Amino acid sequence: MVLIDPVVRVTNFEHIENCFNRRQALTEAKRCLGCLAGASRIEELCVNCLTCLRVCPYGVPVIDDEGVINIRKEQCQACGLCMGICPAMAIEFRSDYIEQAASRVESAAQGKDGKGAVVVFSCAYGAYAQPEFTQKYILDRDTDLGVVRFPCVSKIDSLHILKAFEAGAERVVVVGCEDEENGDCPFHDTIFWGERRVQRARKVLEEVGIAPERVIFTTLPQAEIEDFERAVKEAIEKTEEASAAAAQE
Ligand code: SF4
Ligand code: SF4
Repeated sequence: MVLIDPVVRVTNFEHIENCFNRRQALTEAKRCLGCLAGASRIEELCVNCLTCLRVCPYGVPVIDDEGVINIRKEQCQACGLCMGICPAMAIEFRSDYIEQAASRVESAAQGKDGKGAVVVFSCAYGAYAQPEFTQKYILDRDTDLGVVRFPCVSKIDSLHILKAFEAGAERVVVVGCEDEENGDCPFHDTIFWGERRVQRARKVLEEVGIAPERVIFTTLPQAEIEDFERAVKEAIEKTEEASAAAAQE
């Protein structure tokens, strides 16, 4: 929060704190409040490969006295990165909010004209949490896009992307924000892992004969999210142009 300069403070009795603007308030509201909603290791499935220990940006998983992984629930930031990468699928979340988001993929893949829609996976925080966005893209679906918001793109798994195609999506766009770069996001490494998961989904699609270019990963600054539909369509056009150029070489 911005504080009034001390030099100015001594000249009056005004409040020294400037309040949050709406975007700052939304950012602050997404802080983990220790609700213990995060990752939990499924003992019967875990093979102690230590992948979660290596991936977690916050050092939450540790090896306990008995030599097995302990994902310390009181330390977990609920970012979701370990869940999508555990090779044994031995991590679940205590809260069901990822399943809730995933359950919307099928309807999002259905376009208004009966054809497959462009499914857009986005974050649910920051500019994506603004009431105008919710009204237009989620409640009214006043758009050709089928938008599915996840509590941060770090929780989007390659399987969610493949599920969208299974449900008939024309293409999938995963859209992150640029808050991580400018320090407005409490999570780390989300863009890095988001891109990796898109690449993994592309690989699988290619293997089954679906053009991998039908999945796009992009990030948008706050200002672009205000004009979301145009920004997503531009990202699609750029990818199509790049694919056409590559095909000609
Ligand atoms: S990544 Fe999964 S299987 Fe590997 S140690 Fe962690 S919980 Fe166990
Ligand atoms: S959910 Fe995030 S913070 Fe929690 S253990 Fe997994 S990677 Fe670490």
